[in-house]
Amino acid sequence: MKKILIGVPCYNEEGNIDLFFERLSKTLNKIINFQFDIIFLDDGSKDGTWEIIEKLKLNNGKYKINGIKFSRNFGKEIAIKCMLERAEKYDYFITIDSDLQHPPELIEELINISSSTKNRIILTKKTNKNSNFLRLFTAKVFYHTFNLFSEFKLINGLSDFSLIDNKIVRTINSFKNNIFIFKTALQSVGYKPKIIEFDIEEREKGKSNFNFIRLIGYAFQTIYTYNSPFIIKFNLINLSFVILFSGILSLFSYFILPHLLKNIFIFFIFLMIFWITVSIMIITIYLVSLTKEIDRKPIYIIDEEV
Ligand code: UDP
Ligand code: MG
Repeated sequence: MKKILIGVPCYNEEGNIDLFFERLSKTLNKIINFQFDIIFLDDGSKDGTWEIIEKLKLNNGKYKINGIKFSRNFGKEIAIKCMLERAEKYDYFITIDSDLQHPPELIEELINISSSTKNRIILTKKTNKNSNFLRLFTAKVFYHTFNLFSEFKLINGLSDFSLIDNKIVRTINSFKNNIFIFKTALQSVGYKPKIIEFDIEEREKGKSNFNFIRLIGYAFQTIYTYNSPFIIKFNLINLSFVILFSGILSLFSYFILPHLLKNIFIFFIFLMIFWITVSIMIITIYLVSLTKEIDRKPIYIIDEEV
């Protein structure tokens, strides 16, 4: 019998976990020939999430349920990384959100597809139904630019809800980066994924922890961790333009421009300052990532396990 670990990251999900587990177990009950273990990872919740996980562990006999409680909030990606480290003795690993935005019923399809194809990675793609225009547009620009300069292509619109086999789990666990982004890691290893689409559901209770600033941070981390040459090349090109442009302008202003046009020149000076600042920003944010990478503190701390 093949063994599957289902990893569920939870942050302030006290209102969702019971219903989530009800729908999950209903689905798992229908699937034969597989043995399921479930990990609920409490990523430093401030509400009663951990107590609910403990109760689930006590009351449930059918599946092996484990709970891991982080000492504080380390973020969803790190939560997934921690669960991946527990997944090496399983044939498959599935991760799914606990807020019911990912329909647990889809797990059956993930497993069926994995059994009937040779794909080691089964990914899910959100239909755009519930996204706003700004988010869709920025995502499009980001993925397009990333792919232009990358050795591997990233697919826009994927969710973390996915199934991977043991080989992929081990491969990803061999990444030693401190910064970890699950879906980018999955796409960077090179096996052709199978992608299925689903309608993202509304959050059952509570609110999302994702906002625009986080999204931008996430985009930078994706580039820095999985495509770092890009940032250096981009900056080099950017700075070459600044040098060329400012060189030509200063010659122009010195020898040719009459007094009136000097105002325009001043405008360009400010433009240049802006331009250079962008470059410095890019490098500074890169330094933040590098600092994180050479940091030798643990990337998560476990407070309690049941
Ligand atoms: N989550 C987590 N740690 C965090 C933020 C979120 O473990 O710091 C979990 C959360 O409980 C949920 C999933 O990750 O199961 C997705 O989070 P959220 O709904 O906030 O993100 P969104 O769906 O809006 O992308
Ligand atoms: Mg959500």
